[in-house]
Amino acid sequence: MIRKILYTTVLIFSAYTYAGSDTSSYSTAGNYTFIRQDYFGLNDEYETPFFVFKGSKPGPVMILDGGIHGDEIASYMACDSIVKYINLKSGTLIVIPRTNILACKQNTRQVNFDFNHAFPGDLKAEQFEYRLAYEFMWLVDSVKPDIIINLHEARTKWTPKALTDPEKAYGQIIISCIQPFEELLVRSVDNMNKKIPEGDFTFHTHYYSYREYSSLDNFVSKFNIKSYTVETYRGFAVEDRVKLQLIASLQFMKEIGLEFTFPEEIYKLQ
Ligand SMILES: [Zn+2]
Repeated sequence: MIRKILYTTVLIFSAYTYAGSDTSSYSTAGNYTFIRQDYFGLNDEYETPFFVFKGSKPGPVMILDGGIHGDEIASYMACDSIVKYINLKSGTLIVIPRTNILACKQNTRQVNFDFNHAFPGDLKAEQFEYRLAYEFMWLVDSVKPDIIINLHEARTKWTPKALTDPEKAYGQIIISCIQPFEELLVRSVDNMNKKIPEGDFTFHTHYYSYREYSSLDNFVSKFNIKSYTVETYRGFAVEDRVKLQLIASLQFMKEIGLEFTFPEEIYKLQ
């Protein structure tokens, strides 16, 4: 069977470390940013790329996923923007823009059933959602990230009533399945709101009760990894939703200690 080349490796040398063919004095390990493209579902119907960024300095590891639900378009648009513009200086960032690529292509929440209900997955299952969930769990187990941020969107906007409703997700919330909220979550939401004009765009911490089939709850319960879900409100213009997703994602990167640059004009809200 002809298989695709599994790994596409791109080495990005910054101008001051790369000197043409003379690599003898410039090829010291650690002087470059490393990007690798890999896949879930290689040669399968659900094949989707993900991108591994490695800074030149060691540091924490973060996984960022979008497109778990295919019609939550700001989630994968924000991931695309990060893949395009991020300049990671330290640590590792893994971005999976279109986790459920078949649903994204159809602009629909799900294909056979809700992929976010397929965890922890099953590699031998008939329906691809279980196989995809298994691969995702395998990736998490392999890299043991410090944090996993899941990007989603919701049709109902947060109101104070949401504070006492652990059974529903809302727009403009950051979800945790753990109470009391971890300090990292509270601090991150406080700091992302400093970049957001006061009003409807503000993010709120939200407790969503434990579900044994969901991605977030499996990451937290099986691997003891911090994981939060970002939900933007689908009633806002898509340009604003993408910026809000970017503000949240970049803030979590910063709070866990990843060093990077990202052009401010891409996410700055008017
Ligand atoms: Zn969703």
